[in-house]
Amino acid sequence: MSDGIVPQHILIVGAGVFGLSTALSLLSNAAYKRSRITIVDGSPSLPNPYGSSVDASRIVRADYIYKHYSRLALEAQGLWRDTTQDGWGGEGRYHEPGFVLTADEATGGRYVKEALDTVRKLAAEDDTRSWVDATKLKELENPDQIRAATGYNQVSGNYGYANFNSGWADAEKSVAYALRRIRQEGGDRVTIRSGSHVAKVLVSTPERCTGVELVGGEQITADLTVLAAGAWTPTLIDLRGRCLATGQTLGYVDITEDEVKAMQDRPTIMNMSRGMFIIPPRTKELKIARHGYGYLNPVEIPRKNILPGLLNVDLDGGQAEAGEVVQVSIPKVNIPIPLEGQNALREALRGLVPHIAERPFSKTRLCWYCDTPTGDFLITYHPRYQNLFIATGGSGHGFKFFPVIGDKIVEAIQGKLDAELTKQWRWRTDAELAAAGIDKDFNACDDGSRAGPKGMTLEEEVAKGGNETVTSRASRL
Ligand SMILES: Cc1cc2nc3c(=O)[nH]c(=O)nc-3n(C[C@H](O)[C@H](O)[C@H](O)COP(=O)(O)OP(=O)(O)OC[C@H]3O[C@@H](n4cnc5c(N)ncnc54)[C@H](O)[C@@H]3O)c2cc1C
Repeated sequence: MSDGIVPQHILIVGAGVFGLSTALSLLSNAAYKRSRITIVDGSPSLPNPYGSSVDASRIVRADYIYKHYSRLALEAQGLWRDTTQDGWGGEGRYHEPGFVLTADEATGGRYVKEALDTVRKLAAEDDTRSWVDATKLKELENPDQIRAATGYNQVSGNYGYANFNSGWADAEKSVAYALRRIRQEGGDRVTIRSGSHVAKVLVSTPERCTGVELVGGEQITADLTVLAAGAWTPTLIDLRGRCLATGQTLGYVDITEDEVKAMQDRPTIMNMSRGMFIIPPRTKELKIARHGYGYLNPVEIPRKNILPGLLNVDLDGGQAEAGEVVQVSIPKVNIPIPLEGQNALREALRGLVPHIAERPFSKTRLCWYCDTPTGDFLITYHPRYQNLFIATGGSGHGFKFFPVIGDKIVEAIQGKLDAELTKQWRWRTDAELAAAGIDKDFNACDDGSRAGPKGMTLEEEVAKGGNETVTSRASRL
């Protein structure tokens, strides 16, 4: 811990990228060789099919406008590229067919140009490690060049660039790999408990976190509790103004073996003006998704349930009692996506792969980002409760850092994280937020990469109807 005392028992809440990567890093760090580690996750099975970290694919790219994320992504990519059986990229977990970022110049062009600029600078700096090969970067100045670089039919956007250094990872396989390694490397020191839903964080006086209480009443005590509960973290501690659960739309369409062959080696394509993207398929299922502002799912919580800094949210949507309430957006899973989302996905399919566009969705999914106002992660001690550490705020781009984010989280736990990342991932004070014009009701991440409508609520969109048309295999996810 930052006070130098090594915790004997470390509790990690959440078995997604942030929690599992932390566990792997603790296991390889000699300072913690005598520490016991418990990982709890509410999901009955792991990998959690509803977790943000679990899906067919996630983009791995250093294409950011912010250099510190690009550098960290390159570090991670160095490990993803280890495709030996036990490496991060082994057993088909990582592929590198490239990434094409496009935009309508007027509405997303700035992000695309700045990302290209960052990657070019890194390529120039990075002559020793060869992580970015400058010859694999190509500016795309019109739709014909975009079409030629991607292989997709008609591409929205008149400007873009291709980075054939970038790739994607099989997200579910990667989570399963991390779980396997934790079990192997941790042996008796590690306990992984699925189906263990944390009801609340336990605190004692003076203000110190002592562990958690599970639904059902069992208490787990720990010297250090790491909250890595993804988009659900705002149900455990008061993160208003700092983190927000936003539901993002995904649709899947069945394709043939020949169509897989035709598309599997294409680069991922993402349009920054609309947020729509396709990662090349490896199975007979094509996924299309939107990286947008997402849907909010605000629930009302009686103010009396808010201890200073802590929440006690009834996830089953219990009605607020009389008296003052506050609103917190929380994830809702296993429901079909609203018609608005279906239409947006369908329109993008019509542009990119018209011969597939009218096929029914075999399934759809709402997948939840834990968004921060700036898109920066939140990796820091809780400002009020000792021994309580927060590792969340993935903001739709945390997956690619799986191989390295745990090391950064552990450095932050030890107070050794470099100054730039410490600043970027800090707990912003109320005064700081107010000065930046962010209040407790902020409703969207403004990191410059989002598109689509802003401020939609799930309830309103579902009430418009039409969402029930996709039911076939929706319950699988
Ligand atoms: C649709 C979509 C597309 C994305 N695309 C990309 C991409 O292309 N590239 C990229 O880098 N990133 C991408 N991301 C972001 C990335 O996937 C996330 O940032 C990352 O997976 C977040 O990991 P996590 O550990 O914070 O959360 P999760 O993976 O959600 O893990 C949190 C875990 O905590 C558990 N939990 C929650 N509450 C409790 C509780 N009370 N008690 C016990 N357990 C609890 C949950 O069951 C869950 O398993 C995408 C995300 C989504 C949703």
